[in-house]
This record gives sequence, C-alpha cells and structure tokens, in this order.
Amino acid sequence: MTAAETTTTETRRDFIRDIVAADLAAKRHETVVTRFPPEPNGYLHIGHAKSIALNFGIAEEFGGRCHLRFDDTNPTKEEQEYIDAIERDVRWLGFDWGKHLYHASDYFEQLYEWAEHLIRTGKAYVDDQTPEQMRINRGTLTEPGKNSPFRDRSVEENLDLFRRMRAGEFKNGARVLRAKIDMAAGNINLRDPTLYRILNAPHPRTGTKWHIYPSYDFAHGQSDAIEGITHSICTLEFEDHRPLYDWFLENLPVPARPRQYEFARLNITYTVLSKRVLTELVRGGHVAGWDDPRMPTIAGLRRRGVPPVAIRDFVKRIGVAKANSVVDAAMFDYSVREVLNKTALRRMAVLRPLKVVIENYPEGQVEEIEAVNHPDDPTAGTRRIAFGRELYIERDDFMENPPKKFFRLSPGTEVRLRYAYFIRCTDAIKNAAGEVVELRCTYDPATRGGNAPDGRKVKATMHWLSAAQSVPAEIRIYNPLFAKPNPDAANFAADLNPQSLEILKDARIEPAIAAANSNDAMQFERQGYFVRDPDSTADRLVFNRTIGLRDTFAKEVGGKG
Ligand code: ATP
Ligand code: MG
Repeated sequence: MTAAETTTTETRRDFIRDIVAADLAAKRHETVVTRFPPEPNGYLHIGHAKSIALNFGIAEEFGGRCHLRFDDTNPTKEEQEYIDAIERDVRWLGFDWGKHLYHASDYFEQLYEWAEHLIRTGKAYVDDQTPEQMRINRGTLTEPGKNSPFRDRSVEENLDLFRRMRAGEFKNGARVLRAKIDMAAGNINLRDPTLYRILNAPHPRTGTKWHIYPSYDFAHGQSDAIEGITHSICTLEFEDHRPLYDWFLENLPVPARPRQYEFARLNITYTVLSKRVLTELVRGGHVAGWDDPRMPTIAGLRRRGVPPVAIRDFVKRIGVAKANSVVDAAMFDYSVREVLNKTALRRMAVLRPLKVVIENYPEGQVEEIEAVNHPDDPTAGTRRIAFGRELYIERDDFMENPPKKFFRLSPGTEVRLRYAYFIRCTDAIKNAAGEVVELRCTYDPATRGGNAPDGRKVKATMHWLSAAQSVPAEIRIYNPLFAKPNPDAANFAADLNPQSLEILKDARIEPAIAAANSNDAMQFERQGYFVRDPDSTADRLVFNRTIGLRDTFAKEVGGKG
C-alpha cells in the first residue's frame, strides 16, 4: 500500500511505534519483525483489522516484515474455510506477508521436543487429575491453589506417560502435561498451566499425526521465537499471560527473545466483536452468513461495499491506546462516507417508486439528458439519461397534505427534476384504499437543464427515472444489527435490531447502474452509497446500501422518527 491509497496520510505515533523506534535506535534489533496470529476458527472482523494494520503497518513503516501465522492449535474448532477466508481478507485489506506464511502446526515437533525438555529439567509433569479436580485445585483470585498429587512424578515416569499421550494411548482429557511453576502464584496463569492436552482429532494440516495439541500459551511465544519476531503485539487480555510467555522463553533453549506488548482491543458501539458471538449469529441463522453485510466481518463489510481504504483510514484515525474504550459507530461511518464521497460515481435510483405522468409531454417521445458522473471530478465524465412522459419519483418526495416545511412535490407545487425540467403536480390519483398510486403533472419545456428563463425558483430538486428506460432492482437496506449501543454478548439475541434488514423489491435503477459490472460502490443521489450484491442474476439485480448519505443513526436503530 502506498500513502496515496489512504486518505489520512500522516502516520500516527503511538506507544508501540515509540517502543519499536527506540529499539531500532538502540540497535537492540537490526530489523523489526511482527506477526498477525489469527486462530482459524472464524472470519476476521474489524477488530482484527486494527491488529492487522498495526502489525503490518509497523513492519512497513520501519522497513521490517510481518508474518501471517495461523495459530492452529485447536483442531476441533478450526477449518480450512476459515484459513482461506483469513488470507483473502488480509490481502483485500491491502497487506502482504510475501513468503512469510506460517502455522503454529509447522512447529508441533519442535514444541513437543521443548515439552520433553521441560520434563527433563523438572519443570513439567503429567497430571492425571480430572478436569474438575484441576479446576477446584487451581484456587481462586483470593485463594492459592493446591499442588496436584501427581506433581512430583519422576522424570522417567513423566516422559513415559507423555510419550504415550503422544502415541494416542489415552482417551481425550485423561491426562494433561502441565508446567511446574507455582500453585500459589498470584497470577492464576502461573499455577501450573496446561501445556498439552489429549485430543484425538485430525488436524487440517497435520492430519492424524498428533493425539496431543499444545495450548495457546505453550505455542505462541515459542512460535514467535522460532520466527524471530521482535515485537509480539497483542490485545490487553493477554497482559496476564505475559509472565507465562516470558517463563517459557526463559526456561527453553529458544533461538531468540521476542517481547510481548499489549494494546487496547477495538470495541464499537452497536457492534459485537467476539468470534464466539459472530459464530453463533451465523450458526443460529440470525444473519445470512459470515459475509452478511450486517456483520462486522471483513467479508461482510466488503459485501456491503465498504472499500478497504476506508477500513484502513478508520483504524488509523482511532489510534492505538493502552486502555480499553468503545468507539462510536459514527466514526466508522464517517470514514466510509469520506472515501466514497470522493470516489463513488453518481447515479439515480428510485427506491420506492411513485409513477408520474407528464400530461403535456408528447406520447412516445424520449429525449436524452446529460448528467455528470461526479460533481467534483470532471474527468469522471457524463452519461445520458432518458426522459419521457412516464417517470418514477421517490414516494417520500410527494405529500398530498404537506406540512409547512415540506418543499418537495405536492398538489400545485413546482419542483426541479435533476438535470431535466421543472414539473408541477396537477393531480394525485388514488386506489380504492385511498393511497396515492400515480401523479399527474405538467412540465415546462423552457426549463430544460433545470433552470427557468424567467428566473423563477423552486425549492426542491428531486431524482427521478424514466418508467420505460429504467431497470427493476432489489435493494437491501442495512441498519445496525444490534438495537443497543452496548449489546450484551452473553445474551446477544435479545439485543438484535429487528429492523436490521429492509428489502425493497420494486426499486428502479438507471441503465448505467445495471451495466456497471463493478464491485465499487456508487452514490445513488440523495439516497446513499450502494453496491451490487453477488446474489444478483442476469434478470434480477440486487444492490446493498453501503451507507446512507447522512448520519441517521438514531433513526436506523429504531429511535424516534
Ligand atoms: P475472540 O473474539 O474469541 O477473543 P480473537 O478475536 O482474539 O478471538 P484471534 O484469532 O486469536 O481471535 O485474534 C487474532 C489477533 O487479533 C490477536 O492478536 C488478537 O489480539 C487480535 N484481535 C482480536 N480481536 C481484536 C479487537 N477487537 N481489536 C484489536 N485486535 C483484536
Ligand atoms: Mg484470541
């Protein structure tokens, strides 16, 4: 990525970049090496984007490198689909790991040898306690734990049992390998943490070779050391794991000495960024999939039409801090609008059409009217839009009995149709239920292009489309998935926004929209930014609203109005 591809070009300094800069200045490292270490048990979300941008960004800015390492130590939860999705999403965000693609599973043999090393040095033992006994004996935040009765096994017995664990002799959960640290440690992570558990499950990469798998803690720091990671950057929940991270590195013959630094994870209002909850949203059918445009996943944001540069700008803007906080969802929307306003081509679409017949316009006549593609960018050119006797306008743009401040169309008033003519409403035709189904209007041929030679003014300019020369489309309007600013992750279903998806089946779009076979969002004038959805077929086009033009957030989550 070059600076030109981001709209906020200044690189923010933060405490992690300060540490890296100081380490390089003091020649503690020749080059900075970071990594992004996802567990392939779900799709990446915008919180991960923050971590990705931080790790890859630092490597880029300081001339180092960033590895993509799958933390694939739990085969029962991990899937190839997730591995593929993660690679696709990191690339799409604009980052490149080059040849530095790794997996914790690449190191299983080395990790195993290091586990034996700990056994041989009297720093690890096989524990036969049941998971329940281990839980009880771990103690609590206020009480120390109790030593396991198996803690003082001989090295020989431990080696024998551990090798038999590896060979698959025991059932899942029958035994674990634990570090022998301190059952009275104030930090519970140091109370003889589990290093290996028995899991008779095939692994996407190592197949059926292993019957035991290392814990996250036993794999992570050592993987960092093997890869020569200099700065192992993770979120604050790992702060309490750092002493353990360091303990392994101090007690093993590792080839390097990485350091762990923690930063605050991203939280956003009206959003849940927990893979567990996101998985349940998908599995429970609350959304259409991981790439449902309401999801905060990278795949969902992409499908919604959010450009990667907007995500990069957003995470740059919010910065990197040491204390957790919650970012207003409006900040994200701001970043999206800022990018799309500059880049999106302008088009006209009528989301909820109301038929208009221009009674003094010749029957059968069609004329082409020129419209600009981007008001601030003449190089984007122009296109032609058909105007005729029968048109569609937006249903909301007409009111039979308008309140005082309503300046759009109503019986007797005159408005401008964008790029075209002034029209005046002469009659509203209703159905048996009393609903307005069609408007009768007249146009002033002298106002072609949108101005009256006599200088008279109108108060509104509205978008419109020719009835015959427009194309039908389905439009999906997305609102926040959650109705509360701070959804309860433990009981998320109760906080879902019942109005998160609105489907408009009878929308009309201009032919230029239908013809653009593009994944770039367009601005539908006065409506917002929209992008073609992959559900589109040749005879049924579907568009997603990426975001509205203005901040109507309170309304979207079901507040007043
Ligand atoms: P869970 O949501 O279950 O806690 P996770 O998101 O931590 O899982 P990982 O795959 O382990 O899943 O995350 C990969 C990296 O992304 C980790 O280094 C983690 O610290 C970072 N990360 C995860 N969530 C966020 C977030 N909300 N903000 C910033 N970084 C995050
Ligand atoms: Mg995690």
